[in-house]
Amino acid sequence: MATDDTHDEPQHHAHVDETIDDRETWARRRREGVPTGKNLLVVACMDERIPVEEALGLDLGDAQIYRNAGGKVTDDVIRSAALTTNFFDTDEIIVVNHTDCGMMSAPDDAVRDGLETQVGDLDEATIDPSLPALSLGDADVTEWVRMTDDIDDACAAQVEYLRESAFIPDDVMITGYVYEVESGELRRPGDRVAEEISERRT
Ligand SMILES: [Zn+2]
Repeated sequence: MATDDTHDEPQHHAHVDETIDDRETWARRRREGVPTGKNLLVVACMDERIPVEEALGLDLGDAQIYRNAGGKVTDDVIRSAALTTNFFDTDEIIVVNHTDCGMMSAPDDAVRDGLETQVGDLDEATIDPSLPALSLGDADVTEWVRMTDDIDDACAAQVEYLRESAFIPDDVMITGYVYEVESGELRRPGDRVAEEISERRT
């Protein structure tokens, strides 16, 4: 970048040019095959209380982030994970579920009734407008919605689903965490330390 030797400071256009160059490089990342900073895909619940980047210590550009209701490994998570691990340099997936998830807020029957009221005949409903062949088949709609009984068990299960998927290479590292909305901390699924240390020893 040229600077004017007669001035102590570079002319301001140099700073502007640098900003433009940085932006162009950023925009060209995908064309040039630049992977995410941490070669990472995060699958997390869409709940607004989870600051995913902050909780995992991620900066802009570090990871691809997929958020859906419950942070569940649905067919579209498998699709996304398959693409990024096979055709991009992603070699790690982190699942983030959380306490007080809305997926634990209602029994299956209430969810089924609510959707039936909206949709009508659930057996005939299209779940993917561009892929009519993808249907619920014999599954109950609640298997599609995937309400949750226990968040730690659910988190461990999502990790297993990803590990077992034939679409995802075996050497991809897959880990799950439970984000505690009450403390703002992550824990490994099953590590309910607070409960253990808050009760009388038996
Ligand atoms: Zn949630």
